Amino acid sequence: MSVNMPPSHPFDFDAVATGGNDDKLHEECGIYGVIGVSDAANFVALGLHALQHRGREAGGIVSHHPEKGFNSARRFGYVRDNFTRASLMETLPGPLAIGHVRYSTAGAKGPTQIRDVQPFFGEFSMGGAAIAHNGNITNADALRRELIERGSIFQSGSDSECIIHLMARSLQRSIPDRMEDALRRVEGAFSVVAMTRDELIGVRDPLGVRPLVLGQIADGWVLSSETCALDIIGARFIREVAPGEMVVITSQGVESHFPFRPARPRFCIFEHVYFSRPDSILGGRSVYETRRQIGVELAREAPVEADLVCPVPDSGTPAAIGYAHESGIPFSMGIIRNQYVGRTFIEPTEQIRNMGVRLKLNVNRALVKDKRVILVDDSVVRGTTSRKIREMILDAGAAEVHFRIASPPTQWPCFYGVDTPQREKLIVATMSEEEICAYMGADSLRFISLDGLYRAVGEAGGRDPSCPQYCDACFSGDYPVAPSDQIENGFRLKAAGKAAE
Ligand code: SF4
Repeated sequence: MSVNMPPSHPFDFDAVATGGNDDKLHEECGIYGVIGVSDAANFVALGLHALQHRGREAGGIVSHHPEKGFNSARRFGYVRDNFTRASLMETLPGPLAIGHVRYSTAGAKGPTQIRDVQPFFGEFSMGGAAIAHNGNITNADALRRELIERGSIFQSGSDSECIIHLMARSLQRSIPDRMEDALRRVEGAFSVVAMTRDELIGVRDPLGVRPLVLGQIADGWVLSSETCALDIIGARFIREVAPGEMVVITSQGVESHFPFRPARPRFCIFEHVYFSRPDSILGGRSVYETRRQIGVELAREAPVEADLVCPVPDSGTPAAIGYAHESGIPFSMGIIRNQYVGRTFIEPTEQIRNMGVRLKLNVNRALVKDKRVILVDDSVVRGTTSRKIREMILDAGAAEVHFRIASPPTQWPCFYGVDTPQREKLIVATMSEEEICAYMGADSLRFISLDGLYRAVGEAGGRDPSCPQYCDACFSGDYPVAPSDQIENGFRLKAAGKAAE
């Protein structure tokens, strides 16, 4: 086992420049696995690099070699700063490897500890196994209490470690069977990539909340959170792992099982809006095209007279293109993003900290002066960044600023693997749309409706309120899996029968 030390207060310009980590929702993990190629860990490192947007605090890789056994490395920081060094990659030999990138997980808020960095490893009577989990176990507190009472000794603060301990308690004779046993006890959202000495295993929860795809490279196979991470190694996209499916991949090929009670899928609709990379394919749809279509819907729902449509870069760009196309108002890069701002780990002076969003975004003055500007952003969580951006645009001489937001108001926390502030800190949970508009100092503010978002992801009839086609709990408060730990801690669900807003 090879570990590095926590960075001594790495300064994250991206976080400061977006008003702190709380002003955007963050996907908490990306997972990846490869079997059947020599030096699989190198492929995993490339895949994790392509998934870095899903978690950039830390990453880890476990590999297996027939003679050298299991090896692992876990590191703080970006994949490219760690898993590109030959001296490290040589310690991860073999044709089978899995990996994980993480933001801070629900089980371990606060500073990341190296013991929380996945994959987790367990030694069982039939051999070792490593697992990497994307999602969040909503009954993890209850499971942890039960497991500790029965003698389990936890190594980390992560909810995902419960899976290893549940596997250890199972009486099944194979690791895939033990995983099935363990995951049947788990509630919430999980996409899991796991490995034994000679198997690569992928599982999605029955609702398929988090993504997982299967690819092929020469005689080998790949599991990945997103298709963009297949492209980087030249793997061919085969299909999505289905909700509730377990695939067990060996040198003989792919075996598929459906160990859970069938349920109607509720994929995370926010993956389409924000989390996934625009060059990925989700549910057979291009993420870029869906985001462009969100802009089209937004222009139909919330037109306004203006001179320019500008994206808040980068994630607002496809929706701004769609809005401009539908409205006929010219698209313009009125705000330019400094691509390198998040890459410097230095301790800044207070004066530099106070520059905030200006470190990351700059207004293209020549374009916006005297113009009525429509700013298209992907989401508003606390509103602090939007407020600063509006100030910068007006300072640059714009005549009016109209916000158009490519997601419905984020009113509820996510308990399925996305880092959201407490409900009281979500601006739309505490203010009306008019109040937010006034707080942001904008000339107008409109969010896309939930039905408009559903139409953009291909549901022509909009959201089916009796049986929603996606998880949209952070917008609607309609949680497809009751967050039992949270309820026990006092979280109050929306009153039954109240329509999604
Ligand atoms: S609550 Fe929101 S972010 Fe979380 S899984 Fe559901 S749609 Fe996605």
